Amino acid sequence: MTDSNGGESLGPRHMTPDEFREAGRSTVDWLADFLSDHRAGGHARTIIPDVAPGEVYAALPASPPMEGEPFADLLADVDRLIAPATTQWQHPGFYGFFPADSSPPSILGELVSAGLGVQGMMWSTSPACTELETLVLDWLVEACGLPDRFRSNGPGGGVIQDSASSASLCAVLASRDRAGGAAELPRMRVYTSAQAHSSIEKDILVAGFTREQLRAVPTDSNFAMDADALAEMVATDFAEGLVPCLIAATVGTTSSGAVDPVARICGVAASVGAWVHVDAAWAGAATVCPEHRDLLDGLEQVDSYCFNPHKWLLTNFDCSAFYVADSAPLTDSLSIVPEYLRNAASDAGEVVDYRDWQVPLGRRFRALKLWFVLRSYGVEGLRAHIRAHVAAAVVLADSVAANSQLEMAAPLSLALLCFRHVDGDEASERLLAGVNASGRAFLTHTRLDDRYVLRVAIGGTWTTAEHVAELAQLLDDLT
Ligand code: PLP
Repeated sequence: MTDSNGGESLGPRHMTPDEFREAGRSTVDWLADFLSDHRAGGHARTIIPDVAPGEVYAALPASPPMEGEPFADLLADVDRLIAPATTQWQHPGFYGFFPADSSPPSILGELVSAGLGVQGMMWSTSPACTELETLVLDWLVEACGLPDRFRSNGPGGGVIQDSASSASLCAVLASRDRAGGAAELPRMRVYTSAQAHSSIEKDILVAGFTREQLRAVPTDSNFAMDADALAEMVATDFAEGLVPCLIAATVGTTSSGAVDPVARICGVAASVGAWVHVDAAWAGAATVCPEHRDLLDGLEQVDSYCFNPHKWLLTNFDCSAFYVADSAPLTDSLSIVPEYLRNAASDAGEVVDYRDWQVPLGRRFRALKLWFVLRSYGVEGLRAHIRAHVAAAVVLADSVAANSQLEMAAPLSLALLCFRHVDGDEASERLLAGVNASGRAFLTHTRLDDRYVLRVAIGGTWTTAEHVAELAQLLDDLT
């Protein structure tokens, strides 16, 4: 075999720099066309592909090629087989779940991350990977008005996790070990609202708790944690000799965007020394706007906090910002130093090794995409993104209020609207099916007060007021 320079080689044939340049250009061209379609209204692609289970698998060769194929063939298959069978999360009519924003600078940051090919488990395995991460997380503290205790210049700081689920898991592990670890585990109790995300339950199971050790705190009429009920549950458990180790609050619940009373929750936690973690996976992005900083009430007292720039802040998955007021309990839980990872900088205690702030050892260079986004849009650009969607949600809420067939199922929360059909669950389900069958918009549902509820989560990168007005019209047409 000859290598790309014409010499003898036993290795594979790599792309030459010129071939890479050309393949890269054609890939970015393809992506630019793909995004232009979403920017133009997404008319060329249906949001939910019409694909039967197994269809994509069957359309592709059952075995890998023995010899390498031309790159153009690969890209042609992406265009012909993969993109059409992909759910169009970036379509402007996608209002399901919560948004998973992507943006051109973020995509390019991801490309550079792959190109640098860094495994940033420790400062010494790539100083820039660690220090850029520290910097952008400090930038987010300022941009979002987060408490100073989350800055890197004190005992606390931030780290980028792959997901809010992983961030909450780290909070669970740190709180468990701070409260006594394995020896005390059977006596420990964790509290979260009945509306908390399912990841909290999964995290406590992963951390070795049983389901019975998780207390589901009732919620008030707005689906926020009832702090009085929490106080009672915690006091009763404490009096019985149990150890309340963690209270996981939510700012912006998945079902309705409810905001738990964090300041009051911290008061309850302080009385028994419990850790408070705040999961603001979706809503946290809105705090980039000063007018939404009431979401941060009480945050200066919590032990940990996370929100996902990969939801509503123009940064593609995965990028979850996780902050701790004091990193010591986290690293006490998660740091194991085998001989093969020892190095002078770590031994001297001069650097942060983010591998000790997460469960896996390996780390991607995720800070690049966030840095690209922050520098490209600026804080004002991010504010404009959030404000456009919050304003569109108000207009949609007015339209729902004016429709006698519809009623709000929860107070409007930022850009999340929950409503139902006045005729009951079947009519609500039919309405959701009708919207989704239109191909112009995609909604998902939840249950609130044991009734079927349609959710509209406005937040897509390319979603404008005009798209939301189209949705309002569609809802009127279908009711
Ligand atoms: N917490 C809340 C409130 C969420 O809404 C979600 C997902 O929508 C999660 C956690 C889980 O997020 P991730 O996918 O980053 O784990």
